[in-house]
Amino acid sequence: MIHYSCDRCQRRIDSVEDIRYIVRIEIQATIDSVESAEDGDHLMEIEEILERLEDADCQELSEDVYQNRQFDLCPGCYLEYKKNPLSLDAQLVLGFSDN
Ligand SMILES: [Zn+2]
Repeated sequence: MIHYSCDRCQRRIDSVEDIRYIVRIEIQATIDSVESAEDGDHLMEIEEILERLEDADCQELSEDVYQNRQFDLCPGCYLEYKKNPLSLDAQLVLGFSDN
């Protein structure tokens, strides 16, 4: 039997008795390439970044360009996460106004 722990509340999740929600997040930096003289500099920057990605020492830079993360959530945290996956301010999510 494998025990997981919720990455949000740290509660233990029994892999047999409890539902476990796996959240996979893929973040990729991107830019819409436009073949024009004006955007030439930007294209060069991205190309340079991508080339430097191949350098294993550029871990920090790599995370800015591409991240693939996975989290285990218990049912309670899954419900909370589902409501607000981008961690928006509660006021924005609920539509409250200060006025
Ligand atoms: Zn939890």
